[in-house]
Amino acid sequence: MKMLKPRNAGEVSSIVRLASKHRACLLVRGGGSNVVGAIMPVKCCAILDLSRLSSILLFDEDNLVLHVEAGALVSQVEDWLNSRGYTLYYQPQSLHLASIGGSIAMLGSGAYAPGRGNIEDAVLWLDVVLADGSTVRLGSHRNPRGQVGPGLVSLFTGSEGIFGIIVAVGLRVRLLPAYRVRRAYLMPDLSRAFQAARRLTLWLQPHLLRVQDSDEANLVYGVGRPVLLLGVEGEDPELVEAQAQYADRVSLSLGGERRDGLYEKWWEHRFDYDKYLEMLGPAGLWIDTIDAAAHWGVLDKVVQNVKSSVAEVPGVIAVLSHAGHFYPTGGALYFTVAMERSVDTYWNVWRKAVDAILGAGGSITHQHGLGLLRLQWVWDELGEQYRLICRLKRLFDPEWILNPYGLAAGCRSCREG
Ligand SMILES: Cc1cc2nc3c(=O)[nH]c(=O)nc-3n(C[C@H](O)[C@H](O)[C@H](O)COP(=O)(O)OP(=O)(O)OC[C@H]3O[C@@H](n4cnc5c(N)ncnc54)[C@H](O)[C@@H]3O)c2cc1C
Repeated sequence: MKMLKPRNAGEVSSIVRLASKHRACLLVRGGGSNVVGAIMPVKCCAILDLSRLSSILLFDEDNLVLHVEAGALVSQVEDWLNSRGYTLYYQPQSLHLASIGGSIAMLGSGAYAPGRGNIEDAVLWLDVVLADGSTVRLGSHRNPRGQVGPGLVSLFTGSEGIFGIIVAVGLRVRLLPAYRVRRAYLMPDLSRAFQAARRLTLWLQPHLLRVQDSDEANLVYGVGRPVLLLGVEGEDPELVEAQAQYADRVSLSLGGERRDGLYEKWWEHRFDYDKYLEMLGPAGLWIDTIDAAAHWGVLDKVVQNVKSSVAEVPGVIAVLSHAGHFYPTGGALYFTVAMERSVDTYWNVWRKAVDAILGAGGSITHQHGLGLLRLQWVWDELGEQYRLICRLKRLFDPEWILNPYGLAAGCRSCREG
């Protein structure tokens, strides 16, 4: 299998022109960290590795705008900004693995709350190489909103590499906060933890809010109750303290109990996924994570349904959950499943989980995307939109050059129309 490593956007464009001429296919690769089979290594395609497109092109400090090449790792950009007193506020667990372009293509989401911590919160414009090799800027570099007219940036956000290749990105940058307050509360049950999260989201909009169920809290901190984590940041200590005091009142009114030290423990170990994987390997286990989302009215039910039905699958050892992002309308859920190493068990887990999510009225993904993994449920989740996505794919990429074996693979079925 061929691996192509262009050095700049011009080389990407030349490669795409050649591919178009010879009707060859290209699998665009950023950091290679997606977890849903968004790029399948298929022999007849070449891999277009964007890791050398990693330069900072321009930093407009006055206007807090960064223009960066799309192959840069998120951690590289964040480190560069931090050393100058700025941040992206986009902090996925895969900070050191994922690229900026891959994060946009997968609709990534980091630990910070929506409004700051989702990748779309940071994107102003995209420079994109289309399937005919031409380059176009989507969005606006002059407008602080980033958009004039139809939202073409949004069309490419979450497009999983099927419409075009993002070669550079204009990003919103924020100031690093001068002052931070972190809180953790033991909550009496999940329902009241979600009630607290809802009030805090609606009235405080904290920088970070996370609810861990009692199983996850037990594993991480050795406590047998759900834990609510909250972070507030800002320039002025008095304002930040006042916000934290409001969070204390909300949590305590719902039966919560402040427990110092838990937030710090979670924060310090949030990138330790390698350690857990190393522990599971010798134990003969696999671990997988399943992201989902739901409105407030069914959030609790989705958690209970997924946990109980996945736990019943023979070979499953443990199912943990947390909610890592909250919106005025609901939240995003994340399940961690430890299971025996068996392909049958793996697929049984996924089938049970997706049935439970859809059955309870939830949505089957929040930040990991669809990929080949979720292609079998794409019509359940997207309905007729998928037919439209396929038509857009044909419009943007008539020769089917870009990433034809991921999200777009289902387009060739007879349902496309
Ligand atoms: C340990 C671990 C933790 C993770 N934690 C998180 C998390 O907290 N939050 C989260 O959102 N995700 C998380 N992920 C998933 C993964 O990191 C994200 O999906 C990430 O956004 C993928 O970026 P990437 O650069 O690795 O993309 P890749 O895996 O290289 O590619 C993903 C898709 O995007 C396309 N693509 C890549 N670059 C471009 C580009 N420049 N232009 C057009 N299309 C492109 C590819 O063709 C492919 O379809 C985690 C993964 C791991 C392994």
